[in-house]
Amino acid sequence: MKTAVFPGSFDPFTKGHEELVKRAIPLFDKIIVAIGINSNKKYLFPLEQRREWIEDVFKDDPSVFVDQYEGLTAHYCQKVKAKYLLRGLRNASDFDYEKTISQLNAIVGGGLETIFLISEPQYSHFSSTIVREIIKGGGDASPFLPKEIQIK
Ligand code: ADP
Repeated sequence: MKTAVFPGSFDPFTKGHEELVKRAIPLFDKIIVAIGINSNKKYLFPLEQRREWIEDVFKDDPSVFVDQYEGLTAHYCQKVKAKYLLRGLRNASDFDYEKTISQLNAIVGGGLETIFLISEPQYSHFSSTIVREIIKGGGDASPFLPKEIQIK
């Protein structure tokens, strides 16, 4: 069973995240969208809300599961027997950051492989940070969000 973990904060899950997972579905038997919980970090949306949204986005995709974890991503992957991590690359700064994390995860995770998908051009400027800024400013973030996620 080829299992990939797609880790992130998903605060909130965007169309960019959705597109990445959809493109990865044919590549793996199972994909776990795993919400990492960092107790030092402040989130805009509660964990349960973020989780429900993602479950709703993938309700018709039987190979996609949603979970949450604390601690090291590499340890979570061992727990769920995933040999692959899925990550997205939008630009050169994503690459620099992701390269280091991927090399560390390969060591800590005993050969854990990170599979990168380059984002589609129309989504490469999408980020959870931008969505949070729009919402905090009272704007309409719907162009950046999957249709299942409606934020008033
Ligand atoms: P983190 O807190 O780990 O940065 P995010 O929720 O911001 O988590 O992102 C999780 C993953 O999704 C990262 O690999 C990131 O590069 C990727 N990602 C975020 N936005 C996009 C996008 N618009 N297109 C493709 N990948 C994306």
